[in-house]
Amino acid sequence: MDFSLSPQIEEYRRELKELIARVITPEVVEEQHRSGTFNSDALNLALARGGYLERAVPGLGKGDPVELWLLFNELEKAGAPYDGISITMMIAGVVNAVGTDWQKERILPSLVSGEDLVCMGYSEPDYGSDVASIVTRAERDGDEWVINGAKMWTTMAQAAKWLILLTRTDTEAPKHKGLTMFLFPMDTPGITVDPVPTMGTERTNATFYENVRVSDQWRLGEVNGGWKTMGVALSFERGVMGGTSQSVQMLREFRRWAEAEGLMADPLVRERLVRVAIDSEVAKLLTQRSAWTAATGGEAGLQGSMTKVFATEAYQKASRWTQEMAGAEGLLQFHQPDAAGDGWVEYHARHAPVTTIYGGTSEINRNNIAERHLGLPKARR
Ligand SMILES: Cc1cc2nc3c(=O)[nH]c(=O)nc-3n(C[C@H](O)[C@H](O)[C@H](O)COP(=O)(O)OP(=O)(O)OC[C@H]3O[C@@H](n4cnc5c(N)ncnc54)[C@H](O)[C@@H]3O)c2cc1C
Repeated sequence: MDFSLSPQIEEYRRELKELIARVITPEVVEEQHRSGTFNSDALNLALARGGYLERAVPGLGKGDPVELWLLFNELEKAGAPYDGISITMMIAGVVNAVGTDWQKERILPSLVSGEDLVCMGYSEPDYGSDVASIVTRAERDGDEWVINGAKMWTTMAQAAKWLILLTRTDTEAPKHKGLTMFLFPMDTPGITVDPVPTMGTERTNATFYENVRVSDQWRLGEVNGGWKTMGVALSFERGVMGGTSQSVQMLREFRRWAEAEGLMADPLVRERLVRVAIDSEVAKLLTQRSAWTAATGGEAGLQGSMTKVFATEAYQKASRWTQEMAGAEGLLQFHQPDAAGDGWVEYHARHAPVTTIYGGTSEINRNNIAERHLGLPKARR
């Protein structure tokens, strides 16, 4: 890939930054942290109107491949609430890759218009890392499927119009071969949503499915081919659609505060901040590579695992360092007087660990790298 940014891309970035600065007001950030819903309808609509969303969907957008990285990089650096739109663009890429013509016509415009979000129902109370073992059942009944079960960690279910759902359709077949994916409206009767707060501020949900009836036209991919569809989704999720440059915003806030407090005279503080900056640069380059691969139709799953492990673990280490260096003020939250970095230091220390879990834990991504890159034996069947 070519790491240099062309003059057109620099212009794209300048306009994107202007848009973000205009829409992401302190009130929008405040609402994100108050509600735990990491989404802004105003931002999504503005991005769609500017053509940024459609251009960035892997395989669909006609933009320069580097735009996929730039979009999420700028949103993260601005501390913008982008999780809703990130999940939605990722699933738009999956619909584009494996959806029927009818699904593309029916679903894609609603996603790239910035009006509607998607949430993901893969994990269950007993199956997260071992997601191929999920037990939520979909049973065929004529031209319909009847779905029963429970999902855990269905982030954005409170705000999404659409749900992508992994189900078990064959209980006799080996676990990876009995799964089928669906994508259908969240207001289908039989779905309930219970909020689950997390230490990282973001609200997620437990979701329940009781005799949920969906027509076969909402099936995404082949019957019992859900694992393949899941592979496409994960290849976009890890290290491609954001989540890898949050330490930049943290570093900026910490530095601003540390300078005002006179902490920058301490060589240990300076050394650590330089290390965080170097790790952030490495994370940026890794993300550019995996986003480029995804945007040009390549298989980014392995690169994404490498990117995610490095970037999220570096972010977690950096967030601990900044909290340690800030001392007692690093424990104070937004709106508390004297909070380090106006509360961002404390927030990032709570938020960073969560990023090493969702989208596949560090251990699962390390297994992926060990098996597929280093050729080591499988950790499990
Ligand atoms: C804030 C948040 C948002 C999320 N959003 C979504 C969402 O929108 N949709 C969705 O479907 N899911 C979502 N998830 C779920 C996430 O993908 C799972 O939490 C994750 O895959 C881990 O699964 P688990 O929580 O069941 O932990 P477990 O799988 O039970 O793992 C527990 C521990 O064991 C380790 N472990 C497990 N298996 C192995 C192995 N084979 N080798 C080595 N170590 C292993 C794990 O690394 C971990 O440390 C979200 C999670 C969080 C925390």
